[in-house]
Amino acid sequence: MDFDLTPEQRGLRRETIAFAQAELGAGTEEDDRASRFPAADWARCAEHGVLGWPVPVRYGGRGLDPLTTMIALEALGYGCRDNGLVFAVNNHLWGCAIYLLLHGTQEQKTRYLKPMCDGELVGAHALSEPDAGSDVLGLRTTAERDGDHYVLNGTKWFVSNGPVADVFVVLARTGGDAPGDGAPGDGAPGGAPGGGRPQDRLSAFLVTADLPGVRRTREFTKLGLRTTPMGAVEFDGARVPAANLIGREGAGYAIFNATIEWERAFMFAGHLGVMERLLEGAVAHASSRRQFGRPIGGFQAVAHEIADMKIRLELARLILYRVGWLKRERRLALQDATIAKIFVSESLVQTAMAAVRVHGARGYLEGFELERELRDALGGPIFAGTSAVQRGILAELLGLRGVLSGDPEGR
Ligand SMILES: Cc1cc2nc3c(=O)[nH]c(=O)nc-3n(C[C@H](O)[C@H](O)[C@H](O)COP(=O)(O)OP(=O)(O)OC[C@H]3O[C@@H](n4cnc5c(N)ncnc54)[C@H](O)[C@@H]3O)c2cc1C
Repeated sequence: MDFDLTPEQRGLRRETIAFAQAELGAGTEEDDRASRFPAADWARCAEHGVLGWPVPVRYGGRGLDPLTTMIALEALGYGCRDNGLVFAVNNHLWGCAIYLLLHGTQEQKTRYLKPMCDGELVGAHALSEPDAGSDVLGLRTTAERDGDHYVLNGTKWFVSNGPVADVFVVLARTGGDAPGDGAPGDGAPGGAPGGGRPQDRLSAFLVTADLPGVRRTREFTKLGLRTTPMGAVEFDGARVPAANLIGREGAGYAIFNATIEWERAFMFAGHLGVMERLLEGAVAHASSRRQFGRPIGGFQAVAHEIADMKIRLELARLILYRVGWLKRERRLALQDATIAKIFVSESLVQTAMAAVRVHGARGYLEGFELERELRDALGGPIFAGTSAVQRGILAELLGLRGVLSGDPEGR
């Protein structure tokens, strides 16, 4: 195994950090306070090619391989103080563009990927609903075929980038009733047309915000990552061209499952950069801040706090790079991506808490960055599937049936 970065990867890392430090995040404090999307920084990311890193050159991207993309995102996370901007980039790439890259038709890719790389179209993933969060099979938004269109009805919630998005990847029900309110993911057979397995009743669509019947209705105010706007999207008889179906009808859940391993790992590459930034800050503070006549880093309690920050960073990097490598080799990475999602998101929370402790009151007060870092970190164990649900998936991958479905027979 070769753990070294190539000279090109090292160069890209250096160049990305320099770009992010010089050109991004100048107004983060005010944007965070106002929950404002940094549109000018978004445009700078587009100009710099960030929004097309994993997209092939023929569709307007930079064509980086998955591992190199991960290294670039790590560098972006390190250099950009605005974690919300990095999260917005990640939603655009791993909540939206990746669906087209992996499952889109030639026409869909040609039509949408270039403007997405150029930052002209902002992408989002509209999956969650008021009554369906972790339980994806329980979603209630419907899509009914009508000639060469599908008619969508329903409400999506918690959509990151939603208020500024132009294109949404939407999962909707094309057959059967929504399951009852039984066990999570019970998918109780509805017996309605399009019945069969609950997994075969969902379809994925690319929906543009400009269609009649698509409304971006409300914005949510969040604890952290406030510069990524989050909203609701309502579909009220929205007529979506059948050409915007992603994959085939009924394949939505399979497509979601085949794509989610990308989201669960690549979305968290930026966390590595944040962990490194927090570690460096903690070392610097523990070296310069003196109490009882010596630097506080000389106290074992503080030193161990910092040693643990380093351990978490290095282990998080190993599991994420492994997913990057697996995807570069075109191999399945569901188990590793699930482990990565749990470990990296939870490690960032622990590291942000440690950084706050090392800085004392300076960690707790506004204006010293760390309280924002902690608020931003807290979303990671929730979005892209909560830690509890990931642990359930991992247990099922290890052969324990019924952990999520509540059905030990695994029916
Ligand atoms: C910052 C942020 C950004 C987000 N961005 C998006 C987005 O862009 N698009 C989108 O569609 N959604 C988005 N979400 C929503 C996110 O995907 C959901 O919050 C998440 O899937 C959990 O759903 P829920 O909030 O409805 O919680 P619920 O599913 O109601 O879960 C509540 C609690 O019950 C636990 N629980 C539920 N089921 C099980 C089970 N089977 N086993 C064990 N525990 C269980 C959960 O772990 C959690 O602790 C975002 C959320 C956040 C916080």
